[in-house]
Parts: sequence; structure tokens; C-alpha cells
Amino acid sequence: FVINVNQFLESEMKQLIVGLALMFAAGMASAACEVNVEVGDSLAFSESSITVEASCDTVTVNLKHTGSLPAAAMGHNWVLSKTADYQAVANDGMAAGLDANYLPADDARVLVYTKIIGGGEETSVSFSLSDLDAGESYTFYCSFPGHTGLMNGTFTIS
Ligand code: ZN
Repeated sequence: FVINVNQFLESEMKQLIVGLALMFAAGMASAACEVNVEVGDSLAFSESSITVEASCDTVTVNLKHTGSLPAAAMGHNWVLSKTADYQAVANDGMAAGLDANYLPADDARVLVYTKIIGGGEETSVSFSLSDLDAGESYTFYCSFPGHTGLMNGTFTIS
């Protein structure tokens, strides 16, 4: 009887451990597909690099401006382009104006973007990785004029 109880407990423990491992794996997967980025009244992103899992169906970037200055003075957005393209896109977008998020209209080099937000505001963007290539070098950046040189970081699909 004692042996049977031990075998029963061992079986239960194994199931519990497998269950916990699955829950942990699921939690990790969802966390890696959603990225929280903060900006403030300075030219800096809270993240200098972002890595997402190649298995993500959808990636969501949440951008939060914790500062107090309005978008016209210290606006920020989150834009994704190929590393080879991003500086040219930012240059081409300077004349577009705040309403166009300082991005050139209908430009294929702009892969993902949020609107420009000011202090106290938040925005999000969700996108599929199916159009991106894990072997490509991508950079995320803020397209507000004068910000791009300091506000950029690497975006990696692993
Ligand atoms: Zn900015």
C-alpha cells in the first residue's frame, strides 16, 4: 500500500511539473511578443534593443510617453525600417509635418509605425512578422525631426 501511494504521488508530481512547465512556456511566449517602450521629455527610448520570437503570430509594441511636453515640442513615435533605410526615411519625413507623423506618405520603407504622441499619451501598434525576414537587420526609431540620431535601436527576430 505504501508503495502504491508513493507511485501515485510520483505520478501526480510529474503531471504538476509538466503543467507548470507548460504554463511557464506559454507565459514566456506571450511576453516576448509584446513589447513595452517608454519615452519622456528627452531624446531616449527606454529600450536600446528589442528582440521578439520568430514564432510570434503578432507582435505588439506599446509606446508610453511619461513626460509632460506636448507632441508639437517633444513628440515621439515608434517606427520600424530596415537598418539600411531608416535614416533616409527620417530625412524624407521631416517635411511631412506632425499630422503625417513626420513620415513620407505611402512609403514601402516604413514597415511599421505609430502616430506621434506627447506627454501623458499612449499608443500601440500590432504587426505580423510574416513580411519580415529574421536574417535582415532592422532598426526602430523616432521620426520626429532631430530625434532619430539619438532615438534608435536594433530590432531582432530570434
Ligand atoms: Zn522622439
